[in-house]
Amino acid sequence: MARFRSLRWRLTFLYLGLLSVLLLAGGVAQYFAAREVLFRTNAEALSSEYAADLLAFRRQIGTTTRPAAALRALMLSAQFAKELASGHTSAAIFGANGGLVTTANAGISPDQAPPTLTTTDYLIAISTKPKVYYLAAASDGSTHLAVLNVVRVGNKPIGVVQLSIPTAVIDQTLQADRQLAIVGSLLVLLVALLLSPLIIGRALRPLKQMSDTAGKLAAGDYKQRVAVPKSSDEIGTLAVAFNQMAAGIDQAFEVRRQSEAQMRHFVADASHELRTPLTSIAGYIDVLGRREVVDPETLQTSLAAMQQESARMTRLVNDLLTLTRFESGKAPSRQAVVLDQFVSQALDELSLRDRGAVESRDLQPGVTVRADPEALKQVVNNLAQNALKYAPGAGQHWSVFQQDGRAAIRLEDTGPGISRQDLPHIFERFYRGEKARDRSTGGSGLGLAIAKSIVEAHQGTIEASSEPGQGATFTAWLPLAA
Ligand code: ADP
Repeated sequence: MARFRSLRWRLTFLYLGLLSVLLLAGGVAQYFAAREVLFRTNAEALSSEYAADLLAFRRQIGTTTRPAAALRALMLSAQFAKELASGHTSAAIFGANGGLVTTANAGISPDQAPPTLTTTDYLIAISTKPKVYYLAAASDGSTHLAVLNVVRVGNKPIGVVQLSIPTAVIDQTLQADRQLAIVGSLLVLLVALLLSPLIIGRALRPLKQMSDTAGKLAAGDYKQRVAVPKSSDEIGTLAVAFNQMAAGIDQAFEVRRQSEAQMRHFVADASHELRTPLTSIAGYIDVLGRREVVDPETLQTSLAAMQQESARMTRLVNDLLTLTRFESGKAPSRQAVVLDQFVSQALDELSLRDRGAVESRDLQPGVTVRADPEALKQVVNNLAQNALKYAPGAGQHWSVFQQDGRAAIRLEDTGPGISRQDLPHIFERFYRGEKARDRSTGGSGLGLAIAKSIVEAHQGTIEASSEPGQGATFTAWLPLAA
């Protein structure tokens, strides 16, 4: 029973119900149309018969010799009625006022007694003069088709001749027609009942496939997709949407997998970076602890080295905190910053010239952004520190300008530049260029990653370009203050 509640069967029954109603309505309409056609054809036949009989009768009585009154009397006579009645056809003649003059039938059965219409019918027939005036009329429990022909002498109507046949003759034809229609309709319904579940089932097959695939997706197989039917109907659209959803889920899980992998990498790198100074400090403590007497010089050197390592660790922890702060997606607290004044002050505080750099500035006045000044200062500092580290003694040209609706802070140095292998990776966390792997000069590989996260937290971008041997250029692009 539950089987018949499926969409497939519900659609089948709906379709069959609709088809039955349509067949029934079509059958009824066709029955009445056929009945009307048969009535008209028979009426036309009776009318032609009348015309032929009239002509024959007139010839027989010789119209030209008789005076009009005599002719009129003959035309309305029982003799004329008899001439007209034959087989199933009965005749009745009425006067110009609608009153019955005479009737006649072939006398085979009482059925053939002509039906009596209302006087109005005869009067209408006389006055309207349609081509063939006919109607169905009941007489003694049976129905007749009555055709009214107007009798004229000269052009003047003098009466009405009614020829009628029992409609039973017509009904026999209609009944055969009706039986044929019923058998035909039942056959059509049977074929529809056999074929529609197959056709509908076939059309709904992609839905079944989709529910199977959804089950597999739910079980964790995110690569599952459904075959998209060639037709661009609703099911085709649904299949496309389903696949898009499956791809979206797959992608979301892929992103999650990747970010988990990145997180694991990050934790591993950070632990590694922290372990190095800790191991170093532990080493010094171990050496000092093993000696019974430590000379002051060794103590001083060891303490200085430990201090250096702990400072390095503090820097690293601070860098990690900054990075997580800006990568957490929390919006920085912003205020209007006029870049030329801001960069100028930040560079002054760095005293680059005192640290060996050949510094020059080209700061376009009035370029304003909305930024967290502390964070922005760190971007300038990190770029400057890198140039000091990797391009010692080289030129540092700082510029501030506005281009394509954005503000830019740019540093061009004249140092050794960045190798082609390093360039795509320098903004990655813990990435150190080939030359920077030496721990004495290189940092932790977080400076540019921090700069990038700060600029991006301000809806900006940062880029680097370099031709090895010809210096490096770093540009931070920021949205202009409204
Ligand atoms: P680090 O802490 O090692 O300085 P950064 O993220 O600041 O890390 O820089 C990543 C790498 O980019 C550096 O190791 C270095 O190889 C390269 N780099 C950065 N700035 C410059 C520069 N001005 N000239 C040449 N190389 C640079």
